[in-house]
Amino acid sequence: MKEIILAKFGEMALKGQNKSGFEDILMKNIKFRLKSLGKFQYSCAQSTIYIQPEEPEIDLDEVIEKLQKIFGIAAICRACVCEKNFEDIRKQTLVYLQEMLEEAGSFKVEAKRADKKFPMKSPEICQELGSAICEAFPNLNVDVHQPEITVIVEIRDTNAYIHAGKMKGAGGLPVGSSGKALLLLSGGIDSPVAGYMMAKRGIHLSAIHFVSPPYTSDRARLKVEQLCEKLTPYCGDIMFYCVPFTEIQEELKRKCPEEYFTILMRRMMMLIAQEIAAEEKALALITGESVGQVASQTLQAMVCTDAVCHMPVFRPLVGMDKTEIIEISRKIDTFDISIQPYEDCCTVFTPRHPKIRPQLELVEQAQQKGNFSEMLAEAVSHTERKIFKHT
Ligand code: ATP
Ligand code: MG
Repeated sequence: MKEIILAKFGEMALKGQNKSGFEDILMKNIKFRLKSLGKFQYSCAQSTIYIQPEEPEIDLDEVIEKLQKIFGIAAICRACVCEKNFEDIRKQTLVYLQEMLEEAGSFKVEAKRADKKFPMKSPEICQELGSAICEAFPNLNVDVHQPEITVIVEIRDTNAYIHAGKMKGAGGLPVGSSGKALLLLSGGIDSPVAGYMMAKRGIHLSAIHFVSPPYTSDRARLKVEQLCEKLTPYCGDIMFYCVPFTEIQEELKRKCPEEYFTILMRRMMMLIAQEIAAEEKALALITGESVGQVASQTLQAMVCTDAVCHMPVFRPLVGMDKTEIIEISRKIDTFDISIQPYEDCCTVFTPRHPKIRPQLELVEQAQQKGNFSEMLAEAVSHTERKIFKHT
Protein backbone atom coordinates (compact mmCIF):
# COMPACT_ATOMS: atom_id res chain seq x y z
CA MET A 1 0.00 0.00 0.00
CA LYS A 2 1.32 3.40 -0.96
CA GLU A 3 0.54 6.48 1.06
CA ILE A 4 0.76 10.04 -0.16
CA ILE A 5 0.04 13.49 1.13
CA LEU A 6 -2.07 15.91 -0.84
CA ALA A 7 -1.52 19.57 0.00
CA LYS A 8 -4.34 21.62 -1.48
CA PHE A 9 -4.08 25.30 -2.28
CA GLY A 10 -6.46 27.82 -0.88
CA GLU A 11 -7.02 31.30 -2.11
CA MET A 12 -4.06 31.24 -4.47
CA ALA A 13 -5.99 28.92 -6.73
CA LEU A 14 -7.90 32.06 -7.70
CA LYS A 15 -4.92 34.12 -8.75
CA GLY A 16 -5.26 33.49 -12.48
CA GLN A 17 -2.11 34.23 -14.43
CA ASN A 18 0.02 34.58 -11.31
CA LYS A 19 -0.91 31.14 -10.16
CA SER A 20 2.19 29.39 -11.41
CA GLY A 21 4.38 31.92 -9.58
CA PHE A 22 2.52 31.16 -6.35
CA GLU A 23 2.80 27.44 -6.97
CA ASP A 24 6.53 27.66 -7.51
CA ILE A 25 7.03 29.56 -4.27
CA LEU A 26 4.81 27.21 -2.30
CA MET A 27 6.59 24.18 -3.75
CA LYS A 28 9.95 25.66 -2.83
CA ASN A 29 8.78 26.42 0.72
CA ILE A 30 7.41 22.91 1.18
CA LYS A 31 10.57 21.24 -0.12
CA PHE A 32 12.71 23.41 2.06
CA ARG A 33 10.79 22.73 5.25
CA LEU A 34 10.41 18.98 4.75
CA LYS A 35 14.04 18.48 3.79
CA SER A 36 15.07 17.44 7.29
CA LEU A 37 12.45 14.65 7.39
CA GLY A 38 13.78 12.64 4.44
CA LYS A 39 13.39 12.26 0.69
CA PHE A 40 10.11 12.94 -1.10
CA GLN A 41 8.90 13.03 -4.62
CA TYR A 42 6.90 16.11 -5.48
CA SER A 43 4.48 16.97 -8.23
CA CYS A 44 1.82 19.56 -8.77
CA ALA A 45 -1.50 19.34 -10.59
CA GLN A 46 -5.07 20.52 -10.19
CA SER A 47 -4.35 22.99 -7.37
CA THR A 48 -2.71 20.26 -5.32
CA ILE A 49 0.87 19.45 -4.43
CA TYR A 50 1.48 15.71 -4.22
CA ILE A 51 4.05 14.70 -1.65
CA GLN A 52 5.18 11.12 -1.92
CA PRO A 53 7.62 9.85 0.71
CA GLU A 54 10.48 7.89 -0.79
CA GLU A 55 11.85 6.38 2.40
CA PRO A 56 9.84 3.92 4.48
CA GLU A 57 10.94 5.38 7.81
CA ILE A 58 9.43 8.80 7.16
CA ASP A 59 6.82 9.61 9.77
CA LEU A 60 3.83 11.09 7.94
CA ASP A 61 2.40 12.60 11.13
CA GLU A 62 5.54 14.66 11.42
CA VAL A 63 5.23 15.69 7.78
CA ILE A 64 1.65 16.80 8.36
CA GLU A 65 2.60 18.75 11.46
CA LYS A 66 5.14 20.72 9.42
CA LEU A 67 2.78 21.20 6.50
CA GLN A 68 0.11 22.62 8.78
CA LYS A 69 2.39 25.57 9.44
CA ILE A 70 3.07 26.40 5.82
CA PHE A 71 1.03 29.31 4.48
CA GLY A 72 -0.64 28.80 1.13
CA ILE A 73 -1.94 25.32 1.97
CA ALA A 74 -5.65 25.33 2.71
CA ALA A 75 -6.14 21.64 3.38
CA ILE A 76 -4.10 18.49 3.78
CA CYS A 77 -5.12 14.91 3.09
CA ARG A 78 -3.25 11.79 4.01
CA ALA A 79 -4.34 9.32 1.38
CA CYS A 80 -3.83 5.91 -0.11
CA VAL A 81 -2.78 5.77 -3.76
CA CYS A 82 -4.85 3.46 -5.97
CA GLU A 83 -4.91 2.52 -9.58
CA LYS A 84 -7.69 4.11 -11.53
CA ASN A 85 -10.03 1.14 -11.58
CA PHE A 86 -12.88 0.41 -9.23
CA GLU A 87 -11.62 -3.00 -8.17
CA ASP A 88 -8.37 -1.57 -6.86
CA ILE A 89 -10.22 1.29 -5.17
CA ARG A 90 -12.56 -1.15 -3.42
CA LYS A 91 -9.79 -3.48 -2.27
CA GLN A 92 -7.54 -0.75 -0.99
CA THR A 93 -10.32 1.14 0.81
CA LEU A 94 -11.21 -1.88 2.88
CA VAL A 95 -7.61 -2.37 3.96
CA TYR A 96 -6.48 1.25 4.27
CA LEU A 97 -9.40 2.43 6.38
CA GLN A 98 -10.03 -0.89 8.13
CA GLU A 99 -9.25 0.22 11.67
CA MET A 100 -11.39 3.32 11.41
CA LEU A 101 -14.28 1.53 9.78
CA GLU A 102 -14.26 -1.22 12.38
CA GLU A 103 -14.65 1.25 15.19
CA ALA A 104 -17.24 3.58 13.71
CA GLY A 105 -21.02 3.30 13.71
CA SER A 106 -21.84 5.25 10.58
CA PHE A 107 -20.26 6.40 7.35
CA LYS A 108 -20.82 7.80 3.94
CA VAL A 109 -18.83 7.82 0.71
CA GLU A 110 -18.04 10.94 -1.27
CA ALA A 111 -16.55 10.77 -4.74
CA LYS A 112 -14.73 13.57 -6.52
CA ARG A 113 -14.18 12.92 -10.17
CA ALA A 114 -11.61 15.39 -11.46
CA ASP A 115 -10.97 13.03 -14.35
CA LYS A 116 -14.24 13.05 -16.21
CA LYS A 117 -13.10 10.19 -18.41
CA PHE A 118 -13.30 7.73 -15.55
CA PRO A 119 -16.00 5.24 -16.61
CA MET A 120 -18.09 5.39 -13.41
CA LYS A 121 -19.89 8.57 -12.43
CA SER A 122 -19.63 9.87 -8.86
CA PRO A 123 -23.02 8.57 -7.56
CA GLU A 124 -22.21 5.16 -8.93
CA ILE A 125 -18.81 5.09 -7.21
CA CYS A 126 -20.46 6.09 -3.93
CA GLN A 127 -23.11 3.45 -4.23
CA GLU A 128 -20.80 0.61 -5.19
CA LEU A 129 -18.12 1.44 -2.68
CA GLY A 130 -20.76 2.06 0.00
CA SER A 131 -22.21 -1.41 -0.40
CA ALA A 132 -18.76 -3.02 -0.43
CA ILE A 133 -18.01 -1.27 2.87
CA CYS A 134 -21.36 -2.26 4.41
CA GLU A 135 -20.74 -5.84 3.44
CA ALA A 136 -17.25 -5.92 4.93
CA PHE A 137 -18.15 -4.05 8.13
CA PRO A 138 -21.57 -5.10 9.42
CA ASN A 139 -21.17 -2.66 12.33
CA LEU A 140 -21.65 0.27 9.96
CA ASN A 141 -24.76 2.10 8.85
CA VAL A 142 -24.89 4.63 6.08
CA ASP A 143 -25.62 8.13 7.32
CA VAL A 144 -25.40 10.79 4.64
CA HIS A 145 -26.14 13.70 7.02
CA GLN A 146 -23.91 13.19 10.05
CA PRO A 147 -21.61 10.26 9.41
CA GLU A 148 -18.82 9.47 11.84
CA ILE A 149 -16.58 8.76 8.89
CA THR A 150 -16.61 10.17 5.40
CA VAL A 151 -14.72 8.00 2.96
CA ILE A 152 -13.50 10.18 0.15
CA VAL A 153 -12.47 8.89 -3.25
CA GLU A 154 -10.72 11.34 -5.52
CA ILE A 155 -10.26 10.32 -9.13
CA ARG A 156 -7.46 12.48 -10.45
CA ASP A 157 -5.18 12.53 -13.51
CA THR A 158 -2.81 9.67 -12.90
CA ASN A 159 -4.27 7.91 -9.88
CA ALA A 160 -7.19 7.58 -7.55
CA TYR A 161 -6.82 8.52 -3.90
CA ILE A 162 -8.72 7.39 -0.84
CA HIS A 163 -8.81 9.17 2.47
CA ALA A 164 -11.09 9.88 5.39
CA GLY A 165 -11.27 13.65 5.12
CA LYS A 166 -9.08 16.67 5.03
CA MET A 167 -7.20 18.42 7.78
CA LYS A 168 -7.07 22.16 7.99
CA GLY A 169 -3.97 23.87 6.60
CA ALA A 170 -2.54 27.21 7.68
CA GLY A 171 -4.35 29.08 4.88
CA GLY A 172 -3.07 32.39 3.56
CA LEU A 173 -0.51 32.85 0.79
CA PRO A 174 2.94 31.30 0.45
CA VAL A 175 5.63 33.25 2.29
CA GLY A 176 7.71 35.16 -0.23
CA SER A 177 4.86 35.76 -2.66
CA SER A 178 4.12 39.25 -1.32
CA GLY A 179 7.56 40.79 -0.90
CA LYS A 180 9.45 41.53 2.27
CA ALA A 181 8.73 43.62 5.37
CA LEU A 182 10.65 44.37 8.54
CA LEU A 183 9.01 43.36 11.82
CA LEU A 184 9.76 45.41 14.94
CA LEU A 185 10.07 42.51 17.31
CA SER A 186 10.01 43.15 21.06
CA GLY A 187 9.92 40.44 23.68
CA GLY A 188 6.20 41.00 24.25
CA ILE A 189 3.13 39.04 23.30
CA ASP A 190 1.99 41.20 20.41
CA SER A 191 4.79 41.63 17.91
CA PRO A 192 5.40 37.90 17.20
CA VAL A 193 1.69 37.58 16.50
CA ALA A 194 1.84 40.60 14.19
CA GLY A 195 4.70 38.95 12.28
CA TYR A 196 2.80 35.70 12.01
CA MET A 197 -0.24 37.49 10.62
CA MET A 198 1.68 39.33 7.91
CA ALA A 199 3.60 36.18 6.97
CA LYS A 200 0.20 34.58 6.50
CA ARG A 201 -0.43 37.08 3.73
CA GLY A 202 2.72 35.93 1.96
CA ILE A 203 5.13 38.49 3.37
CA HIS A 204 8.69 37.37 3.98
CA LEU A 205 9.81 38.76 7.36
CA SER A 206 13.01 40.21 8.60
CA ALA A 207 13.06 41.25 12.25
CA ILE A 208 14.62 44.13 14.12
CA HIS A 209 15.07 44.38 17.87
CA PHE A 210 16.34 47.28 19.97
CA VAL A 211 18.44 46.61 23.05
CA SER A 212 19.74 48.98 25.70
CA PRO A 213 22.53 47.32 27.62
CA PRO A 214 23.24 47.47 30.50
CA TYR A 215 19.62 48.46 31.21
CA THR A 216 18.47 45.41 29.31
CA SER A 217 20.16 42.04 29.81
CA ASP A 218 21.46 39.40 27.42
CA ARG A 219 18.65 37.24 28.67
CA ALA A 220 16.11 39.71 27.29
CA ARG A 221 17.75 39.57 23.88
CA LEU A 222 17.91 35.80 24.00
CA LYS A 223 14.20 35.74 24.62
CA VAL A 224 13.60 37.68 21.40
CA GLU A 225 15.89 35.31 19.51
CA GLN A 226 13.83 32.43 20.82
CA LEU A 227 10.72 34.14 19.51
CA CYS A 228 12.36 34.43 16.10
CA GLU A 229 13.10 30.74 16.16
CA LYS A 230 9.51 29.95 17.08
CA LEU A 231 8.31 31.90 14.07
CA THR A 232 10.46 30.13 11.48
CA PRO A 233 8.22 27.07 10.95
CA TYR A 234 5.56 29.53 9.76
CA CYS A 235 7.68 32.32 8.34
CA GLY A 236 10.74 30.54 6.95
CA ASP A 237 14.19 32.06 7.37
CA ILE A 238 14.28 35.32 9.31
CA MET A 239 17.14 37.78 9.13
CA PHE A 240 17.43 39.26 12.61
CA TYR A 241 18.87 42.71 13.33
CA CYS A 242 19.81 43.73 16.85
CA VAL A 243 20.27 47.47 17.30
CA PRO A 244 22.16 49.09 20.20
CA PHE A 245 19.78 51.73 21.49
CA THR A 246 21.31 52.80 24.80
CA GLU A 247 22.91 56.05 23.67
CA ILE A 248 19.78 57.30 22.02
CA GLN A 249 17.73 56.55 25.09
CA GLU A 250 20.26 58.25 27.35
CA GLU A 251 20.27 61.32 25.14
CA LEU A 252 16.48 61.35 25.28
CA LYS A 253 16.56 61.17 29.04
CA ARG A 254 19.17 63.91 29.30
CA LYS A 255 17.67 66.41 26.92
CA CYS A 256 14.00 65.84 26.18
CA PRO A 257 10.91 66.40 28.32
CA GLU A 258 10.04 63.23 30.15
CA GLU A 259 6.43 63.01 29.03
CA TYR A 260 7.65 62.65 25.43
CA PHE A 261 10.16 59.83 26.02
CA THR A 262 7.99 57.05 24.75
CA ILE A 263 6.77 58.73 21.62
CA LEU A 264 10.24 60.03 20.76
CA MET A 265 11.72 56.63 21.36
CA ARG A 266 9.20 55.10 18.99
CA ARG A 267 10.07 57.68 16.34
CA MET A 268 13.76 56.83 16.72
CA MET A 269 12.97 53.14 16.34
CA MET A 270 11.09 53.88 13.13
CA LEU A 271 13.93 55.98 11.74
CA ILE A 272 16.45 53.21 12.34
CA ALA A 273 14.09 50.50 11.17
CA GLN A 274 13.63 52.29 7.85
CA GLU A 275 17.38 52.40 7.28
CA ILE A 276 17.65 48.69 7.92
CA ALA A 277 14.57 48.02 5.80
CA ALA A 278 16.18 49.80 2.87
CA GLU A 279 19.26 47.63 3.25
CA GLU A 280 17.08 44.52 3.42
CA LYS A 281 14.96 45.63 0.47
CA ALA A 282 11.94 45.45 2.76
CA LEU A 283 9.05 47.60 1.59
CA ALA A 284 7.16 48.12 4.84
CA LEU A 285 7.44 48.00 8.63
CA ILE A 286 5.30 45.83 10.90
CA THR A 287 4.51 46.49 14.56
CA GLY A 288 2.39 44.77 17.17
CA GLU A 289 0.44 47.87 18.12
CA SER A 290 -3.27 47.81 18.86
CA VAL A 291 -5.31 50.98 19.27
CA GLY A 292 -5.57 52.17 22.85
CA GLN A 293 -3.55 49.35 24.40
CA VAL A 294 -0.97 51.64 26.01
CA ALA A 295 -0.12 55.35 25.99
CA SER A 296 1.97 55.12 22.84
CA GLN A 297 -0.81 53.36 20.97
CA THR A 298 -3.44 56.07 20.86
CA LEU A 299 -4.35 57.35 17.43
CA GLN A 300 -2.59 60.63 18.13
CA ALA A 301 0.57 58.78 19.14
CA MET A 302 0.44 56.69 15.98
CA VAL A 303 0.10 59.86 13.92
CA CYS A 304 3.24 61.22 15.59
CA THR A 305 5.10 57.95 15.03
CA ASP A 306 4.10 57.65 11.40
CA ALA A 307 5.12 61.23 10.71
CA VAL A 308 8.75 60.08 10.52
CA CYS A 309 7.92 57.12 8.29
CA HIS A 310 8.18 57.20 4.53
CA MET A 311 7.20 53.58 4.17
CA PRO A 312 3.90 51.94 5.11
CA VAL A 313 3.62 50.73 8.70
CA PHE A 314 1.49 47.61 8.99
CA ARG A 315 -0.26 47.04 12.30
CA PRO A 316 -2.18 43.82 11.79
CA LEU A 317 -3.36 43.75 15.44
CA VAL A 318 -4.72 47.27 15.34
CA GLY A 319 -8.34 46.27 15.83
CA MET A 320 -7.84 43.25 18.04
CA ASP A 321 -8.44 42.73 21.75
CA LYS A 322 -5.64 41.41 23.93
CA THR A 323 -7.54 38.16 24.49
CA GLU A 324 -7.71 37.55 20.74
CA ILE A 325 -4.00 38.28 20.39
CA ILE A 326 -3.19 35.91 23.24
CA GLU A 327 -5.23 33.18 21.62
CA ILE A 328 -3.06 33.36 18.50
CA SER A 329 0.16 33.58 20.50
CA ARG A 330 -0.81 30.35 22.24
CA LYS A 331 -1.60 28.71 18.94
CA ILE A 332 1.79 29.59 17.49
CA ASP A 333 3.46 28.74 20.78
CA THR A 334 5.11 32.09 21.42
CA PHE A 335 3.03 32.95 24.49
CA ASP A 336 5.12 31.12 27.09
CA ILE A 337 8.30 32.79 25.86
CA SER A 338 6.67 36.21 25.65
CA ILE A 339 5.50 36.18 29.26
CA GLN A 340 8.96 35.53 30.67
CA PRO A 341 9.65 38.57 32.80
CA TYR A 342 12.66 40.17 31.15
CA GLU A 343 12.91 43.92 30.79
CA ASP A 344 12.44 45.61 27.43
CA CYS A 345 14.14 48.85 26.42
CA CYS A 346 10.70 50.51 26.41
CA THR A 347 9.93 49.59 29.98
CA VAL A 348 13.31 50.71 31.29
CA PHE A 349 12.67 54.31 30.31
CA THR A 350 8.94 54.53 30.81
CA PRO A 351 7.97 58.05 31.88
CA ARG A 352 5.72 58.49 34.89
CA HIS A 353 3.17 60.54 32.97
CA PRO A 354 3.48 59.93 29.24
CA LYS A 355 1.60 62.23 26.89
CA ILE A 356 -1.40 60.20 25.91
CA ARG A 357 -2.54 62.48 23.09
CA PRO A 358 0.69 64.01 21.85
CA GLN A 359 0.56 66.82 19.30
CA LEU A 360 2.93 66.42 16.40
CA GLU A 361 4.25 69.96 16.59
CA LEU A 362 5.17 69.63 20.26
CA VAL A 363 6.70 66.22 19.70
CA GLU A 364 8.89 67.66 16.96
CA GLN A 365 9.95 70.50 19.24
CA ALA A 366 10.80 68.03 22.01
CA GLN A 367 12.87 65.98 19.59
CA GLN A 368 14.89 69.01 18.55
CA LYS A 369 16.24 69.35 22.09
CA GLY A 370 18.35 66.25 21.56
CA ASN A 371 21.17 65.65 19.13
CA PHE A 372 20.20 62.43 17.47
CA SER A 373 21.34 62.35 13.88
CA GLU A 374 24.85 61.03 14.50
CA MET A 375 23.60 58.61 17.13
CA LEU A 376 21.07 57.20 14.73
CA ALA A 377 23.76 56.56 12.13
CA GLU A 378 25.98 55.00 14.81
CA ALA A 379 23.20 52.69 15.94
CA VAL A 380 22.64 51.52 12.36
CA SER A 381 26.32 50.91 11.78
CA HIS A 382 26.69 48.92 15.03
CA THR A 383 23.68 46.76 14.35
CA GLU A 384 24.36 43.03 14.67
CA ARG A 385 22.94 40.57 12.16
CA LYS A 386 22.04 36.96 12.58
CA ILE A 387 20.00 34.63 10.46
CA PHE A 388 17.40 32.25 11.91
CA LYS A 389 16.83 29.28 9.70
CA HIS A 390 14.04 26.83 9.84
CA THR A 391 15.28 23.37 10.77
P1 ATP B 1 4.62 43.83 22.40
O1 ATP B 1 3.76 42.89 23.15
O2 ATP B 1 4.80 43.44 20.96
O3 ATP B 1 5.92 44.09 23.10
P2 ATP B 1 3.45 46.07 23.63
O4 ATP B 1 2.00 45.94 23.84
O5 ATP B 1 4.37 45.80 24.76
O6 ATP B 1 3.83 45.21 22.37
P3 ATP B 1 4.89 48.53 23.09
O7 ATP B 1 5.91 48.19 24.06
O8 ATP B 1 4.28 49.89 23.08
O9 ATP B 1 3.65 47.55 23.09
O10 ATP B 1 5.45 48.29 21.65
C1 ATP B 1 4.67 48.47 20.52
C2 ATP B 1 5.37 47.84 19.34
O11 ATP B 1 6.64 48.46 19.14
C3 ATP B 1 5.70 46.38 19.55
O12 ATP B 1 4.62 45.55 19.21
C4 ATP B 1 6.88 46.20 18.62
O13 ATP B 1 6.44 46.06 17.28
C5 ATP B 1 7.61 47.53 18.76
N1 ATP B 1 8.66 47.45 19.81
C6 ATP B 1 8.58 47.78 21.09
N2 ATP B 1 9.75 47.56 21.74
C7 ATP B 1 10.61 47.08 20.82
C8 ATP B 1 11.98 46.67 20.85
N3 ATP B 1 12.70 46.68 21.95
N4 ATP B 1 12.52 46.23 19.70
C9 ATP B 1 11.79 46.18 18.56
N5 ATP B 1 10.51 46.55 18.48
C10 ATP B 1 9.92 47.00 19.59
MG1 MG C 1 6.44 45.47 24.64
